[in-house]
Amino acid sequence: MIRRSRTILALLAVSAAAVPAATAYAEGGDAEQSAFREAVKFGFTGEAIQGGVMIGDAPAGTRSLTFEGQPIPVDEDGKFIIAFNRDAGQAANLVATLDNGQTVRKFINIAPRKWQIEHVSINRRATTRSAAFMARRGPELEQIGAARAVHSGSKGWRQHFIWPAKGRISGQFGSQRIYNGDPGSYHSGIDIAAGEGTYYVAPADGVVTLAASSPFTLEGNLLMIDHGMGLNSAFLHSSEILVHEGQQVKRGEPIGRIGSTGSATGPHLHWSMKWNDARIDPILLTGPMD
Ligand SMILES: [Zn+2]
Repeated sequence: MIRRSRTILALLAVSAAAVPAATAYAEGGDAEQSAFREAVKFGFTGEAIQGGVMIGDAPAGTRSLTFEGQPIPVDEDGKFIIAFNRDAGQAANLVATLDNGQTVRKFINIAPRKWQIEHVSINRRATTRSAAFMARRGPELEQIGAARAVHSGSKGWRQHFIWPAKGRISGQFGSQRIYNGDPGSYHSGIDIAAGEGTYYVAPADGVVTLAASSPFTLEGNLLMIDHGMGLNSAFLHSSEILVHEGQQVKRGEPIGRIGSTGSATGPHLHWSMKWNDARIDPILLTGPMD
C-alpha cells in the first residue's frame, strides 16, 4: 500500500519535472481543487466534435491564446470561440500564455462524425465551365473572400443561434456523394426547403459583409453576415435580400427571402457557416429544429 503510493508520488514528481508546471494545472485532477488552480484552467461549453463549435473561458490572466499554433482573439471577459472543421483530425491544441509568462495547455479530443455518404455507380459529371462562367467566377470568389476577411467586432458569436427559417431539411451539412469511388465535394451547409418568398431571419447578431446586388453564378443572391471572432454565415439562393452591406442586424430580424436563384433546383435556403477556415455545421449551434 505504502509502497504503491510512493510509486505514484515518484511518478508525479517525474511528470511535474518533465513538463512545465502550468501543464499540470491544465489537467489538474480531483486532488488539486484549490481556487488558484481552478482559475488557471480552461472552461468550455459546446462539444468537441467535427463541424462543431465551442465557447471557451480562458484561464485568469491570459495574455494571448493560440489554437493549433494560430493566434486567436480573446474577448475582454476571457471568452473566446474555437471550431472544428468537418474533416478535423482527432485532436487540437490550445495554449494560453499568462501575464506571468506561464503557459496553460489544453489538448482537445475531437469526436468523429458519421457523415451521410452516398455511393453512386455513375461517373462524376464533368464540369466544363464556359468562358463566360469563368470570367464571372473569379470576381465572385474575390468578393466572397473579401467578405470573409471582414472582422466586424460583432458579439453575435456569443449568442445561442436560432434557425433562420423553419422547413424540411432537404440537405445536411457534410453529406457527400462518391461517384464510382471518386468523391465529390461535400455539402457545405444545411438546406431548408420552404416556399418561394418565405422570409428568413438572422440566426444571431451580426454585420452584413456581402449583399449581392445581382445573382452570383452558383450562389444566386448571396448574403453574408459576420458574427465576430472569425465566425460567419452565408445564405444562398435568396429571391430577395432585405439588408445592405455594413448594416448591423439583430438575431430574429428578417434579412432575406427564400428563393432558387443561382444553382438550385427549387426554393430553399442554403445556410453555411465558417469559423476562419473551418467549415462548421449550423445545426450544432442551433440544436434540432422544433
Ligand atoms: Zn445546399
